[in-house]
Amino acid sequence: MLGKPSTNDNEWRNRLKTMNIPNSIQKDKFLMYCLKILKDGGRISLSDGLKLYNTPNLSALCSLANLIKQSRFENNIFFNENLHVNTTNICVLACRFCAFRKGPRHSEAYDLSVDEVIHRIKPFAESIDEVHSVGGLHPQWTVDHYTELYRKIKHFYPHIHVKSLTAVEIKHIANRSGISVLETLKLLKKSGLNSIPGGGAEILVDTVRDRICRGKENSSEYLEIHGLAHSLGIPSNCTMLFGTIETVEERLMHLHKLRIQQDKTSGFQCFVPYPFLPDKTRLPEAQLATTSEIVRVIAISRIMLDNIPHIKAYRMNIGDYVASLCINSGADDIDGTVGNEEIMHEAGSKTRLDYDKKELAKLIISTGQNPIKRNSIYTNFEPYEIITKKSIVMPISN
Ligand code: SF4
Repeated sequence: MLGKPSTNDNEWRNRLKTMNIPNSIQKDKFLMYCLKILKDGGRISLSDGLKLYNTPNLSALCSLANLIKQSRFENNIFFNENLHVNTTNICVLACRFCAFRKGPRHSEAYDLSVDEVIHRIKPFAESIDEVHSVGGLHPQWTVDHYTELYRKIKHFYPHIHVKSLTAVEIKHIANRSGISVLETLKLLKKSGLNSIPGGGAEILVDTVRDRICRGKENSSEYLEIHGLAHSLGIPSNCTMLFGTIETVEERLMHLHKLRIQQDKTSGFQCFVPYPFLPDKTRLPEAQLATTSEIVRVIAISRIMLDNIPHIKAYRMNIGDYVASLCINSGADDIDGTVGNEEIMHEAGSKTRLDYDKKELAKLIISTGQNPIKRNSIYTNFEPYEIITKKSIVMPISN
């Protein structure tokens, strides 16, 4: 491993001071001003963030984000070997952007029993070290269902990290079970829950939430549930769904709220921004994100979120091509081998699901960077090397 990745605030800022600054950044006064703020231990304000967002010089913006990423993680890009299991598509809510949920009587509604989840994991169990499991808000399942599920996963596959349940699922389970969110989290942790994913953040501005996901937890509740998890030693990720109806200012407000929460509880490991995928969903007024915008959001996230170490290119949503652009524009992490995924694929994602770690490593190497296999909590790192055949040089004959 090329030195331990620096998630420590002072370390990466000090390293940033010693790095060669690309010409494209040097030529841009405002980018140089932002770089100085970060080197000096400061933070990009909301108004400077907005100016950055609107800079026409996208390639220099991406270079700045990449420079910051390099100061933390050098030329390394992290991935893990995981399996997504979506336990049910039955949901009591009907978020307007969601192509996944079904009503309980819909012909395609499903809910996997505990044994069916175990059965899904079985063929992958030797090659993965994480199960990422989320689903709809099931009208019947209480905390007992999930504690039984996590206990069984840990019984059969003790080496597998269980990353499961979004904040709104946790709130729903607590309500269904008649106990507090804190008590719910304690029971889930005791039964085997190791971390929680970041899904459901959408945009952390309640006027937007009221229009796209009415009935979901509000923005303070999202942050509070993650904060409670952090207080119990359960790390989490955070996300942003962009390209629905929100303004650029609201995207920046979202980033601002996440970094304030992180100042308080420090448990966010990774930020995962992803654009709304329109197929089969019910949001005709959505302002769909272009490829440039996706890359721009990744770059801005790296520059603004000075206290969240990892930024992920979520290839399940943005596809491999855009993901490869993102890992040269500030992202240091790319979603793993995945195996199976329904939420983004129901919404139209065509990203391949049969990648093994060799193919994922090839994608990373093609961007000129080093693939590093990590564990779920970013404490173990293994460089992954692909042995390539040396080319044979043939003598030229006349
Ligand atoms: S996004 Fe989640 S909570 Fe909203 S309808 Fe879909 S499954 Fe239900």
